[in-house]
Amino acid sequence: TPSLYVVATPLGNLHDISPRAVAVLGAVAAIAAEDTRHSQRLLDACGLRTRLMALHEHNEQAAAGQVIRLLEEGDSVALISDAGTPAVSDPGARAVARVREAGFPVIAVPGPCAAVAALSISGFGEHGFRFVGFLPPKSAARRAALDALRDDADALIFYEAPHRIAECVVDLAAVFGPQRRVLIARELTKLHEQSVVLALGEAPGWLDADPNRLRGEFVLVVEGAPPASGLGAEAERVLALLLAELP
Ligand code: SAM
Repeated sequence: TPSLYVVATPLGNLHDISPRAVAVLGAVAAIAAEDTRHSQRLLDACGLRTRLMALHEHNEQAAAGQVIRLLEEGDSVALISDAGTPAVSDPGARAVARVREAGFPVIAVPGPCAAVAALSISGFGEHGFRFVGFLPPKSAARRAALDALRDDADALIFYEAPHRIAECVVDLAAVFGPQRRVLIARELTKLHEQSVVLALGEAPGWLDADPNRLRGEFVLVVEGAPPASGLGAEAERVLALLLAELP
């Protein structure tokens, strides 16, 4: 049956493409890609000649219509994004929903995902996690969004752009407190891959210490809130004041 295959592609290291992904990308009639020039390089590297068509946030509805027409003609289609898993902080979710509504199977060909890769090396994911993705770009809105997550016991996963990473960790420390730990992962699977776990209070200083640490693509994973003591906010406040007086 004609189907839409949602195919994960590498985050950087081309060897991370799965044999099944290569087989599917080679077998479908067309590949809907976020940036066709970018994805052409991946196809070239895999020795594939499948036709690419653009599906990005500005043409997603129209492109979804084209995908459905191909499916109706009996052809299968693959969906990829520039890196990682499509439809996760990437275009594709609306197209997937439209294809399902049109009654065609949607099949995952899983593989790299920056969020899951970072979670897997954080040590914070044992009891659950929440994928937040990109935060608002302005600090006030960002702090408000973080405030709503402050007491969440789940590990929190954020994507952030390099030019905002420094201000983002300052806001994370302000909202979650300097003791909460964070994983900073940059350039996963790439040549300059680096990851570190430290207290949020130390994160701005760590980033400042070397300009290279501000470069590349970032995932942040913040450990979940410690379990509440059950005392209530006022009792917690008084306890904190009393504890501060202890020798
Ligand atoms: N759909 C993709 C996924 O889930 O893997 C993510 C697409 S999103 C537009 C791009 C963001 O993913 C980047 O800004 C960065 O936060 C993260 N990212 C992608 N590749 C990465 C890498 N190699 N190392 C660290 N973060 C990465």
